[in-house]
Amino acid sequence: MAITIAIASGKGGTGKTTTSANLSVALTKFGKDVIVLDLDIAMANLELVMGLDGKSITLNDVLAGRADIMDAIYDGPNGVKVVPAGISLDAFRKAKPERLADVLTKLYGMCDIMILDCPAGIGKEALTAISAAEHLILLVNPEISSISDALKVVAISKRFETNILGAIINRASLEDTELSSKAIETILEVPILGIIPEDPNIRRSAAFGEPIVLKYPDSPASQAIMQIAAKLTGKE
Ligand code: ADP
Ligand code: MG
Repeated sequence: MAITIAIASGKGGTGKTTTSANLSVALTKFGKDVIVLDLDIAMANLELVMGLDGKSITLNDVLAGRADIMDAIYDGPNGVKVVPAGISLDAFRKAKPERLADVLTKLYGMCDIMILDCPAGIGKEALTAISAAEHLILLVNPEISSISDALKVVAISKRFETNILGAIINRASLEDTELSSKAIETILEVPILGIIPEDPNIRRSAAFGEPIVLKYPDSPASQAIMQIAAKLTGKE
């Protein structure tokens, strides 16, 4: 049986999609069978980062009740399976997020880990994703607005009894205006799973539609993501 891990944040643009894509690939490097799903069904980006855009059948079609989830799973980099959300507005309008739990149930036997790339905030789609996941990782930037918004996700996760594995601090740049890892841990009251530095190779690899952990494996962000994958698989 697979475990499900939602990658969530309060604030938008913290790096959920980048991290979901790369952590999924990193976990495959540790021998795990991984399915990554784009649950940001309104603003689907995962397929772009993974070089899988333009697929005909997507999660939105499945949530609209007009396709089977088995037909919306695509082979991505390094053996990771990818379920894109698609950019069709028509499919998005007809999608019913409440169908998600059933969709996930069908995938449980097919992999070791499901990574759910969530929408930001605590709107309906984010709540559906958080409530459907067993575990959750908070994706934050080292600034107070990101942390205060993350606190709302912590509260929601507790209400849904979704287990918070910890927080990943993304876009760290050693500036003295940044909140320290210790301060973030104290405010959120969750362990810090890793710190991903600001790294121009993230944007560069996204432009190529290739995860940074494959395109630039020696870059600082890739090394940080591999360390987080090692921690999650107990191979640290
Ligand atoms: P979200 O899914 O939370 O909205 P994304 O993963 O789409 O966030 O990231 C938002 C933007 O920030 C993207 O352009 C991405 O390339 C960039 N980005 C994310 N993490 C980093 C990083 N560590 N260093 C540099 N740019 C980053
Ligand atoms: Mg995103």
